[in-house]
Parts: sequence; structure tokens; C-alpha cells
Amino acid sequence: MSGTKIFISAGEHDLSDNIIHLVLAKTTGAPDNVKGISLFIVPKFLINADGSLGARNAVKCGSIEHKMGIHANATCVMNYDGATGYMLGEENKGLRAMFIMMNAARLGVGVQGLAQGEVAYQNAVTYARDRIQGRALTGPANPEAKADPIIVHADVRRMLMDGRAFNEGARALILWGALQVDLSHKAATPEERQLADDLISLLTPVIKGYCTDKGYDVATASQQVYGGHGYIREWGMEQFVRDARIAQIYEGTNGIQAMDLVGRKLAMNGGRGLRAYLALVGEALADAAPDTRLAPMASALQRGFADLQAATMWLMQNAMAKPDNAGAGATAYMHLMGIVALGHMWLLMAKAAQDALDGGAADTEFYTAKLVTARYFAERFMPDTASLRARLEAGSEALMALPAEAF
Ligand SMILES: Cc1cc2nc3c(=O)[nH]c(=O)nc-3n(C[C@H](O)[C@H](O)[C@H](O)COP(=O)(O)OP(=O)(O)OC[C@H]3O[C@@H](n4cnc5c(N)ncnc54)[C@H](O)[C@@H]3O)c2cc1C
Repeated sequence: MSGTKIFISAGEHDLSDNIIHLVLAKTTGAPDNVKGISLFIVPKFLINADGSLGARNAVKCGSIEHKMGIHANATCVMNYDGATGYMLGEENKGLRAMFIMMNAARLGVGVQGLAQGEVAYQNAVTYARDRIQGRALTGPANPEAKADPIIVHADVRRMLMDGRAFNEGARALILWGALQVDLSHKAATPEERQLADDLISLLTPVIKGYCTDKGYDVATASQQVYGGHGYIREWGMEQFVRDARIAQIYEGTNGIQAMDLVGRKLAMNGGRGLRAYLALVGEALADAAPDTRLAPMASALQRGFADLQAATMWLMQNAMAKPDNAGAGATAYMHLMGIVALGHMWLLMAKAAQDALDGGAADTEFYTAKLVTARYFAERFMPDTASLRARLEAGSEALMALPAEAF
């Protein structure tokens, strides 16, 4: 096997005895398109018959990229110079095989978005409690000191609550997604396995795209909580921002995730996954309806759910004949579905918290904070579904109108 691959994460290192590269390549005479791609295993060291490490394979790191962030991960240019590779799966069916790994990796990158948001938020909370600056609008909260801690300021709270509401919602969504992966393999019946597979296929681009876009937003908002110190390297916040940025780009950019959602996943198997997902959200709304204390969360989700259904209908009616309408609205649609997905999780969490409090659970602070954060999500995140829907329904005309030279 010969050729070059760029941007290979951890393409070379000495953290393990061997490195196993999965490489997409074409066999001699294969069709010159995606239907001619096969998947190969290419080890750094060949393996002897007895399982021990053998000769060095002809795959070498040519150089290491200088990057904006994730400096602990060597991003390599790999040169294959007559290297030995072993075909994995069937010839010319490599892309399909690769997607098994890619889908898992996309979920992993979604976790990375959440993780960057979470670590940045935790640091911001500590800083906001410590940093003394200005007075609370309602009068001194800390009269003995010259100023109040900045956590008293509503605008600082806004940044912290945005982080908290996203992080806890995304954590629930990602765990729900992991459960679907398990169920798709291990559920008792083929129907249950199929349902779980349909749900996670639909939601994978949302978990990757929405959670990394928002994780980055939370990282920058948390940096903002530090004021000027957020910009100074020794405080560590600028690193979270730099590190969070890649998650929006690799494993398929978020624009590609949005196109995957709108162009492939919605219509997959005649829309079976989408129908199952909408039914699930509908069920959660019906379950919550009898408890009027959940009404702020339920009614906000109901409106977002209606926006999602209307946006889906608009796509079905307007994107077939004019594909640019799908491309122009894809990111808005992915975010709309992301907000509804987190809203769904928040309604489930709010119901569980309310049930726990009604049942006399000891940890009242924890459950009360869940209910407050659920309400914040309903008030501050859910309304965005209306503007995302409006953006989608604006279509592609103005967006596509200018000739390339006009830019
Ligand atoms: C640090 C780092 C590590 C990486 N690690 C790996 C690795 O280990 N293995 C590996 O295989 N790859 C790796 N990559 C590659 C990475 O997955 C790609 O860079 C990424 O998927 C984007 O592809 P691209 O660079 O070709 O961008 P392009 O495809 O050129 O995209 C450029 C822009 O155009 C948009 N665009 C492109 N096509 C379309 C379309 N059809 N519709 C709408 N918009 C479109 C994109 O969204 C993007 O905004 C890594 C990259 C980096 C930077």
C-alpha cells in the first residue's frame, strides 16, 4: 500500500507497543469513486506467527501539524511506502465498514463537547464565587467586604446557568444515547434492538453537532466569566476554548453532521427513526401533563416540539424539488432538534426530581436545583426553536443569490 494521509490523530507515538491504523484505500483496478474504497488494517509493526511484534511496517510519520489546541495529541502526516495492509471486510465495501467506527467516534466527539463545557463551567463557578467586583443590584450581599463576589450579578449568573443547563441536559442525552447503543445490541427482542438502532442513528449527528457547538459556546462563556483573566494563559480558560474548537470540526464538520441529519437520517427507512423519536417525545409530554407543577417545562417543550414537526414538514415539502433549501436550513434544523432533545431530557429529569421530592427523598437540594435548572432551560433555551424554524423556513434564495465573485 502506498500513499499519504494527512490529519491522522495519534498517528505516531510511543504510548503503546504497536499502532493499528485503519486505512481506506483503493485496490488496483477498483472503481474510481466511493464504490471502489476498501478498508485495511495497517500495523506499525507486523505481527509474527506466534503473536510477537515483528518487522517495522513501511508506514512512517512524515511530520506533525502545529495546531490551535489539543496539543497532547500528535496530528500526523502519514506516509505509506509499500506498506503491508490486511483487508478488513469485503473489497469495495470499506466505507460502510468504516462508518461503524465513525458513528462510535462521532458519539465520542459529542462527549468531548460536553466535557469541555463541563470543565470550563466548573472552573467558572469557582472563579465567580471568589472574584470580588461591584455590588449586587439589590444592595450589598457581602457588606463587610469592599465588593460582592461576581456570582451575585445576574449577567454572570446567565453565563453560569447557560453552562449548567446545557451540561446537565447534554449529559442526560449522551447517557440516553449510550443506553440506545447498548439496547441496539442487547435488548431482548429484534424489534427493540431495531428501535434503539433507529433512534441512535437519527440522534448521532445531533449529539455530535449540537453538543460540540454548544460545548464550545459554554467554554467561551465560562472564559468570559473570568473577565481579562480568561484571556491570560496561566488561568487555563483559553486552553479550554482552543481545545473545544476541534470537536466542531473533526469526525465530519458540524455542517456535514447537519447534512447527514437532513439529507439521510430523516428519510432513512421511510422516516421510521424520526417517527419513533417524535412518538417518544410525545409520550414524555403526555406523561408530564397531569402534574401542573411541570407545566413551565412541558409547555415550552410542546412549543419546541411543534416547531420541530413544522420544520420537518417544511423540509419534506420544500427540499426535494430544491435541494439548496435542505443545505441552507440544515444547521438550523440540527440545532432545533438538539434543543428539543435536551428539552425532552429536562422534562424527564424534572419529572424524576418532582417524584423524588414528593416521595420524601433526602437530597432535597439536589432535586430542587434540578427543577430550577429545568425551568431555566425551558425559559432560556427552548424559545430559540422558533427563530431556528423561521431561519429554516426562509429557504435558500437570499443565501444562494450572490455570485461567488460578489464575496
Ligand atoms: C486535529 C485534527 C485531527 C484529525 N484526525 C483525523 C484522524 O485521526 N483521521 C482522519 O481520517 N481524519 C482526521 N482529521 C480530519 C478531519 O476529520 C477533517 O479535517 C474534517 O472532517 C473536515 O474535512 P476537510 O478538512 O476535508 O474539510 P472540507 O471537506 O474541505 O470542508 C471545508 C468546509 O466546507 C464544508 N463542506 C464540505 N463539503 C460540504 C458539503 N457537501 N456540504 C456542505 N458543506 C460542506 C465543511 O463543513 C467545512 O466547513 C483530523 C483533522 C484535524 C484538524
